[in-house]
Amino acid sequence: MIRIEEIVEKVSRHHPQADLDLLRRAYFFSAREHKGQTRASGEPYLVHPLEVANILAEMRLDEVSVATGLLHDVVEDTLVDLETIRQYFGDEIAHLVNGLTKLAHISNQSKEEQQAENVRKMLLAMVDDVRVVLVKLADRLHNMRTLSHLRPDQRRRIAQETLDIFAPIAHRLGMGRLRSELEDLCFQHLHPEDYRELAAQLERRRPEHEAFLHSVTARIEEKMHEAEVPIIRVEGRVKRLYSIWKKMRRQKIELDQVYDLVAARVITPSEVRHCYGALGVVHNIWRPVPGRIKDWIATPRDNLYQSLHTSIIGAEGQPFEVQIRTEEMHHIAEEGVAAHWKYKEGKRGARDDDEAFQWLRSLVEWSQEVKDSRDFLESLKLDLYPKDVYAFTPMGKVIQLPRGATPVDFAYTIHSEVGSTCTGARIGGRIVPLRTAIQNGDVVEILTSPNAHPSRDWLNFVVTTRARNRVRHWVAEQQRAESIEIGRKLFEKEAARFQLSPKKLLSDSNGDFKRIANEYGYGRVDDLLAAIGYGKTVPRTVIAKYLGPDKFAELDQKKESRLRSGMREGVQAVKRLIRLGDDSIVVRGVDDLLVARARCCNPVRGEEIVGYVTRGKGVAVHAERCKNVQQLMVNPERIVSVEWAGRTDESSYAVKLLAITENRTGMIAGITGAISDMKTGIRDARATVAPDNRGRIEVTVEVFDVKHLDRVIRSIRNVPGVIDVERVHGVA
Ligand code: MN
Repeated sequence: MIRIEEIVEKVSRHHPQADLDLLRRAYFFSAREHKGQTRASGEPYLVHPLEVANILAEMRLDEVSVATGLLHDVVEDTLVDLETIRQYFGDEIAHLVNGLTKLAHISNQSKEEQQAENVRKMLLAMVDDVRVVLVKLADRLHNMRTLSHLRPDQRRRIAQETLDIFAPIAHRLGMGRLRSELEDLCFQHLHPEDYRELAAQLERRRPEHEAFLHSVTARIEEKMHEAEVPIIRVEGRVKRLYSIWKKMRRQKIELDQVYDLVAARVITPSEVRHCYGALGVVHNIWRPVPGRIKDWIATPRDNLYQSLHTSIIGAEGQPFEVQIRTEEMHHIAEEGVAAHWKYKEGKRGARDDDEAFQWLRSLVEWSQEVKDSRDFLESLKLDLYPKDVYAFTPMGKVIQLPRGATPVDFAYTIHSEVGSTCTGARIGGRIVPLRTAIQNGDVVEILTSPNAHPSRDWLNFVVTTRARNRVRHWVAEQQRAESIEIGRKLFEKEAARFQLSPKKLLSDSNGDFKRIANEYGYGRVDDLLAAIGYGKTVPRTVIAKYLGPDKFAELDQKKESRLRSGMREGVQAVKRLIRLGDDSIVVRGVDDLLVARARCCNPVRGEEIVGYVTRGKGVAVHAERCKNVQQLMVNPERIVSVEWAGRTDESSYAVKLLAITENRTGMIAGITGAISDMKTGIRDARATVAPDNRGRIEVTVEVFDVKHLDRVIRSIRNVPGVIDVERVHGVA
């Protein structure tokens, strides 16, 4: 077992200022908590966190990362909770350990193989500190190194997951060395026979490869020296097993035909011009294969890999590859984002910090405005996919959504039918409001009912285009149906005034009416009725068109005289109101209209009211005092008269009142007492003190009508200490 002091020594070598005591404390804590636990190999569990910490120390990470490596499994696998970690080790380490604990749940969650890309993105989206990913990768590397102790099916599952999820993340973060080791380990467990065979073939050729690389590197060193191009060293390398195997499969070739099996790598001092100088020297020794020079220095790869690659024809006619890069490029190619720590400490100036920042920024696709690069380096916050959020179905399928998406968006993403019959949602097993914003890693279950339908309110919170369009479409259809209904009622009312039979007028066989609809530019009678319902067309002018000017004038005359002679038209309406209706109000002369009290003024029985035909939402009833009424008068044809229906029930109205009081105790008790003395219900009461040191008490009372309300207001005014009482308009 590796000793903690070896790890401490490694960390202190690269971070002289590091808090080494932190490492020792983390070690003792982890040793105590994992005591008695063993790994599949039979070794003490502690071996695992120690090895993970060692991998992190070798990446030259800071002591916080290494300590997190020691502690990464304690919350997941022992009785220790996060609070304890926080108490002992502070917020930063608690934050990192918490990130790792969350990730542990994710990778177990996904059951669908095709989802690898989304799982990768989700993993990264859940991480706000790059060190969490680095510890996770180190954890996975050690687990892969010790995989042979597990059952074959477990081995395959973990190796496949590593290949699908973690090796690509390592690649994305530019960590070439770690990625290579992970991939070769995966290969070994996923295709053991191919692995053994290929390894044996390469082993047989090893003397040959070594001799070849030795002669090549010696030749390069000699020529560089002659040409006075400074280099640090020349390395020979054999291509990794997994890459060879992939190439052989992809191109359907034998090992002999893999031309870049061996390669030489020239490491130069830090200036880029030395790389190009070295390239010239290499091309002087051997003839380059045309079109095979790749300049990854001028245009670095996405993960910031930089190098010159060239293929040349060797002495015996076989091609091989030479890579040329500076020491720093080499370090980045091997360690990727972990190389950042090399730049984080030490005596580097602001400009260098800027460069390191640039580098990290492009690495993580940083897409938000960053005002201060120092802040960024300080916090090391990642936001790799700031626009997305990833959640699971109960079956483990990953659903990608925009940030802020709700269960309704989730439901429509699964299927439009699921969306339109959605009645509720559970997140992590708990019922949540449909407007809840989904978080990364949430397991979302949609509850549906065959009779359910979308709600207009959803438009207030859905964020996906798909959900928005579907709900809008439904609302529009719904509005149209309602508008036709309203239009029909308004038309029938007007027709009755002219003593015409609306049934006959509107019957399908009446071609005249169809013609009138066409004159208005509508294809169907229903469209004309909808227009009346929307308030775009007035029934009277439709009737005028139908009757022709002479007949219309005649009947209009008759109608007027009938009215004058006191024959009141429009008997008191029966109130059967369509959905959502408020049956305490009737529209004069019309029944069956959808009526709703306006939310802006919340009229109470007994107040003067006016009705306004809305677009597809029936008649909105406002109090005359409402300041919106003035504006509505711009469309007088849409105003209808409404009145309070006879008291048929005990319906009450919630009204919010605001009392301004002296700041003294007992005010709320005094006010609520006065209200209940009036036998009036109280729905809500709350008190605050305003900056002017006056008390503000808001109470919501239930009143039957406006007179009742006046009495309640008067009784509150009479409570000692009350300065003023007013009604708060709008819905209580
Ligand atoms: Mn672990």
